[in-house]
Parts: sequence; structure tokens; C-alpha cells
Amino acid sequence: MQPTNSDEARPLQCANCRSPRRPVKAVKLCAKCYYWTRRLIESNAKLDALTKLPKEQRGNSSVSLKFRIRVAQRALEELKWREEGLDANSSSAWKLRSLVCTLARDCGSTVEEESMREFEIIEPSARKIIYRALLEIIETLPHKWPSLHTGIRPDKNFRGSRGGWGDWQNEYWSRKDFSAPEP
Ligand SMILES: [Zn+2]
Repeated sequence: MQPTNSDEARPLQCANCRSPRRPVKAVKLCAKCYYWTRRLIESNAKLDALTKLPKEQRGNSSVSLKFRIRVAQRALEELKWREEGLDANSSSAWKLRSLVCTLARDCGSTVEEESMREFEIIEPSARKIIYRALLEIIETLPHKWPSLHTGIRPDKNFRGSRGGWGDWQNEYWSRKDFSAPEP
């Protein structure tokens, strides 16, 4: 009797984002998560090596390495958050709203509150279809880091980078202790 491997029968999913869309590239990760995980591992290794040096030889490199680590962690969290919205049960009105606000912000545009209220009355399966289409647009914006989602509606008086990396960095650098894992 031939041995069966149930793992082989199942399509492989990324260990971080569980994307049903992207194939696994390496070490059980999709290409997007693999890129950020590799950056995370490399930065952690450099930081580890740095901490083994005598204090006087370390300089300020640990500050930038900790920042790189946190950016990679945040990017991986964001990639995971996005894919969760593709599950019909998780395609909440809030998730769809967040994606619309993110897209409007990243395009330097705005969206009316009333337009988004109707997300609450449509079927989760319809939300999922809209969510997926918007996610594909957000993913192909020419950004270096994955756009961070926000539920804050950009308005005519303030477009800026609300809820994006700009806000994230302001919060990060305003903290005194860079060793803490948040924000
Ligand atoms: Zn992934």
C-alpha cells in the first residue's frame, strides 16, 4: 500500500499571511512574506552580533537595526491582516472601510462617510469581492513598504499620511525605549 501524505494533497499556504492567492516561495512563506522575513532574520542576526561586541565598539547601529526589525515585523503583520479580510467570514464592514480609507489616503484623495455606511448592509460575500479588488489595487501601488491600513477617513482638510507609515514612525521615534516591541 502506497504511503499517503495528506500535506501534499493540501495546497501549501504561507505560514505568515495564509494567502489563498500567492504560492509559497520558500521556507513555507509567500514571496512577500519571505522578503520581509529575510530582512527580519538578517537584522536580528546583525543586532545579535553587535550586542556581542564591547560596548565602546557598538556605536549607534543598534538603533537603526531595531528600527529595521520593527518595520519588518509591522510589514508582516500588515500582510497577514490583509489576507484575513479575504475570508468571507472575516470580510467585515470595518475591514472593507479600512481598505477604502487606506486607498483614498494613498491616492491623496478622500471618500465620503455616507459612501462607506452601505458596507454594513451588503452581504459578506459581496464585501469579499469588493475587498479583493481593492486589495489588488493597493498591492500594486508603487510603495516600498506595504501600505498600513487605517479606518480614519481622509478628509478635505487633512489628507497627509494619516494612519500610515508616517504616523507609525512618528509614534515609534517618540518613544524613549527602542527595545520595546510596540508600536
Ligand atoms: Zn505570506
